[in-house]
Amino acid sequence: MNAAVTASPAADTPQAHRYNQIRRWLSVADFVLGLVFLVVLLVTGWTRFLRDYALQLAPDHYSVALFFYVLMLLVSSKLLGLGLDYYGFRLEHHYQLSNQKLRSWLWDQFKGWLLSVSLGALLVELLYFTIRQSPQHWWFIAWLVFMALFVFFAQIAPIVFLPIFYKFEPLENENLKERLVRLSERAGTRVRGVYEWKLSEKSKKANAALTGLGATRRIILADTLLQKYSDDEIEAVLAHELGHHVHKHILKSIAVQAGITLFGFWAANAVLHYAMERGHLFETLSDFANLPLLVLVSTVLSFLLMPLLNSYSRFNERQADRYCFQSITSVAPFISSMNKLAEQNLAERTPAKWVEWFFHSHPAITKRVAAAEDWARLKA
Ligand SMILES: [Zn+2]
Repeated sequence: MNAAVTASPAADTPQAHRYNQIRRWLSVADFVLGLVFLVVLLVTGWTRFLRDYALQLAPDHYSVALFFYVLMLLVSSKLLGLGLDYYGFRLEHHYQLSNQKLRSWLWDQFKGWLLSVSLGALLVELLYFTIRQSPQHWWFIAWLVFMALFVFFAQIAPIVFLPIFYKFEPLENENLKERLVRLSERAGTRVRGVYEWKLSEKSKKANAALTGLGATRRIILADTLLQKYSDDEIEAVLAHELGHHVHKHILKSIAVQAGITLFGFWAANAVLHYAMERGHLFETLSDFANLPLLVLVSTVLSFLLMPLLNSYSRFNERQADRYCFQSITSVAPFISSMNKLAEQNLAERTPAKWVEWFFHSHPAITKRVAAAEDWARLKA
């Protein structure tokens, strides 16, 4: 029996509890703020005012005016949310979880915002182009286009989006690489790239993930993890990530997303028609003043589906964990890595039931540890 197995603390520290509580409130506040913003735009008619202003800036150029309109929305929503974002930055520092200087944080905020403007403008332009070309079937065509883009973005994310914020290098540790090769051979799967994720420049937390699709599929391991965890523990983390790969979790999540998005577009079309024909809020479908209504539909839908999607994600995480238990010789390093991660990231090991149900994409750490112990007991 490894010493670390017996060292699982029973309860959360008040500090961990408080930190996670504040983070939850922060995400709720952010959500509510976004919702209020959209409702206010629609109810006060400011969305029509902004549309008229955009059309004045670019008369006779629908798509340029649309771009100005989107830009005005994204500037206002960023300014509105900046206070909460800054509070989140301070919170990480308060709990000694961040290394990031204010300057670097502001730069990240700016880059993130530019990225959302570029992607947001691209999607909105495509959306209204489709609406104008095919007012009858726009929602279905837009769904096809969005899903194709979604797959494309998932593919380029590790080589285009993630490097905007973090540096990545191929994993140097030969011993670990060899272990991964053996792990994946046992899985009967082709070895994919493993990259060191330079997280320590910004955070004291540790993390690992499976990202990308096809040729860009890779496991990324934070340097904060590589520095402080034993090779056995890192192997356990790798085995878990490999479990996501073996069970094709990224592909399955995209399929789930496709179903939800199709429903979302259908619902958006119904709501737009209702707002137009019954509410007389807009004259035409292609009146882009109705954009806040479209965003509102998708926001409300994602909120309602959050518990369902999180429970699906927790199912996948349990599956990846089980894959990990099978592939490593002893579950002890898995358990000790879980405990280390919880401590390093100030995670709640035993969140309230409803908190886990609603907010958590991963099972509670105590449950993951208990599952590993059960596995070891059954195997013994
Ligand atoms: Zn996972």
